[in-house]
Amino acid sequence: MDFSWSQEQAEFRQRVADFARKELNDGLIERDRRGDFNIEGWKKCAAMGIQGLPVLEEYGGMGTDALTTVGILESLGYGCKDNGLLFSINAHMWTLEIPILNFGTDEQKEKYLPRLCGGDWVGGNAMSEPESGSDAYSLRTTAERRGDRYVINGSKVFVTNGSVADIVLVFATVDREKGPRGITAFLVEKTFPGFHVNRKVDKMGLKTSPMGELFFDNCEVPVENRLGEEGMGANLFTHSMTWERSCILASAVGSMERLLDICIQYARHRQQFGQSIGKFQLVASKIVDMKLRLESARSLLYKTAWLRSQGKNIFMEGAMTKLQISEAWVKCAEDAIQIHGGYGYMEEFEVERELRDAIGSKLYSGTSEIQRSIIASLLGL
Ligand SMILES: Cc1cc2nc3c(=O)[nH]c(=O)nc-3n(C[C@H](O)[C@H](O)[C@H](O)COP(=O)(O)OP(=O)(O)OC[C@H]3O[C@@H](n4cnc5c(N)ncnc54)[C@H](O)[C@@H]3O)c2cc1C
Repeated sequence: MDFSWSQEQAEFRQRVADFARKELNDGLIERDRRGDFNIEGWKKCAAMGIQGLPVLEEYGGMGTDALTTVGILESLGYGCKDNGLLFSINAHMWTLEIPILNFGTDEQKEKYLPRLCGGDWVGGNAMSEPESGSDAYSLRTTAERRGDRYVINGSKVFVTNGSVADIVLVFATVDREKGPRGITAFLVEKTFPGFHVNRKVDKMGLKTSPMGELFFDNCEVPVENRLGEEGMGANLFTHSMTWERSCILASAVGSMERLLDICIQYARHRQQFGQSIGKFQLVASKIVDMKLRLESARSLLYKTAWLRSQGKNIFMEGAMTKLQISEAWVKCAEDAIQIHGGYGYMEEFEVERELRDAIGSKLYSGTSEIQRSIIASLLGL
């Protein structure tokens, strides 16, 4: 395993971090308060090539390998404090672009990927329902074939980007009796008749990432918008979840490094009892723990991406990567608040927001409990 960056990769990473710091952070406290999505930032990221990183060049992407992709997303997370924007970008990439790239027809790839990579369209995926979360395949949304179209009925919750999305990958069942083998995926455009955004949802963190509840009332979807065959939806979902779990928290590793840097600075300069607080072992050991968590999270991120580049099955590594980084990120954000004392609790220091943003990572893409269950079952338990 060789995780050293080539000069070209290192320069790109630096360029992305500089771009993010300069272009994506202004006005974030207000945007977070209002829950505003930064569409200009979204377009600027697309112009840098971010949304298209793992997509082949012929479809408007950059075609970078998995390790380079996570390395660049890590740099983006180091420079960009807007975790909500980055979360929206990740949802768009892993749960929509990747399934289209891997399971789409040539027509679907040609029609949708250039718009998604170019930032002209925002997308997401809709699996969760009011009654089915972790037990995703017990979903109730139905899709009935009628001639050259399917008619979808049901509702979806917690859809990242849902309230602003131009297109959503919707999972529905063509036959509930078939269980997971009835689940089928559809590319549903917002203009299709019967597609409604029920309401925009407000959250604890990641407030700048829009979320919506979707409602399908006899929603008509042309047959050519089915992604994959009937009954392939569960396979397709597992495939995109594996990508997502292994990559979605690359930017969180960048965020952890940023938190570490600001904590070191603060601990050096903040004086109490006549000395810098970093000289107190109880404070220094928190910073050491942050450094350890960062390095182990990064190692797992890179190793999993490297294994993918080698064509290995990374189902277990994906679950471990997601679990490890999410829990490390939450702990780092908590430590960062503690090191900053009362100031860490105040909005203007921009540390409390990191904790609110980080907590969601233990829930989305499968909760920590579900990741532990996956790992346990793969260990034969
Ligand atoms: C910020 C955010 C963004 C999201 N974005 C999307 C999106 O874009 N598209 C989408 O479809 N969904 C999205 N989700 C939904 C997310 O996938 C679900 O919240 C998650 O799968 C858990 O489902 P649930 O909330 O219904 O909780 P439940 O499944 O009801 O779980 C409740 C609790 O029970 C535990 N539990 C459940 N089953 C087991 C088990 N077998 N063993 C042990 N413990 C268990 C869970 O771990 C959890 O602690 C998002 C969620 C969040 C928070």
